[in-house]
Amino acid sequence: MLRRVACALALASCAATAAPLKVDEVAHGVFVHQGATLALDAPGHDDIANLGFVVGTRCVAVIDTGGSVRTGRALRDAIALHTKRPICYVINTHVHVDHVLGNAAFRNAKPKFVGAAALPAAIDASRAYFVEHYAPDLDSPAIGNDVLGPDTTVETTRTLDLGGRTLALRAWPKAHTDSDLTVTVDDAGVLFAGDLLFVGRVPALDGSVIGWREAIDELAKANAKIVVPGHGPISKDVAAAFAPERRYLQTLVDGVREEIAAGKPIDDATAHVGQSERANWQLFDSANAHNVSRAYQELEWE
Ligand SMILES: [Zn+2]
Repeated sequence: MLRRVACALALASCAATAAPLKVDEVAHGVFVHQGATLALDAPGHDDIANLGFVVGTRCVAVIDTGGSVRTGRALRDAIALHTKRPICYVINTHVHVDHVLGNAAFRNAKPKFVGAAALPAAIDASRAYFVEHYAPDLDSPAIGNDVLGPDTTVETTRTLDLGGRTLALRAWPKAHTDSDLTVTVDDAGVLFAGDLLFVGRVPALDGSVIGWREAIDELAKANAKIVVPGHGPISKDVAAAFAPERRYLQTLVDGVREEIAAGKPIDDATAHVGQSERANWQLFDSANAHNVSRAYQELEWE
């Protein structure tokens, strides 16, 4: 609320300034900013997702841009501290607000904006909602044109050349959302999993619990040395990093199937399923009931 008042007083300048984001170089030329563990409506909610950039000999690729134009600019400023090479790609791992709203900060660099084939439609479907509910996170006045979707899409797989190194992109069937995309820096063995991996923070289901479980089983076997989750710390043990999330999703599947088999309504399921996982996750109550509800709607048709 205080921020809203400050924004109103400062008019258009509110979104303009922030210190460059803190980033870590997790492998040569591969940088990661770890977002904070905060609720979607908490102060600082525009900096909760992990963001990254990869520097090639020719140009730079950005992977997710944060939950506001301000955060996007702070990422852009962090990039400028590490390289003078141009930004040729801005890649979004999926449609969620905390990963895409900073895109407008990169428009002047004229990159290709890249996402899964389903992402343009997902952004289109979310644009009005983002403008209405996240106006202080866009430049003032908030307009739909500043919610940028991709101009370059990935149906299944695609390779991007940064000069001297390549990124392998893969679009996934419905899992965390219907527009999930992962990015692997081939030479460094770094997997940017987007929100197909939550570490510490409770996973949020907006796609298919069965699809997500299948994606995890493939990703956990990936030949990566480092995995960057969408939320939470990076890990050098890729299989182990996915294990808690796999267990949580399986708890949802098993619990919801039991409720359905017993003829229990969705409200009963949302009150009970997943509670054994409560102590294992930050912000558990921010997503568990929603997750159970999504899983119920998916699994009742089995
Ligand atoms: Zn997400």
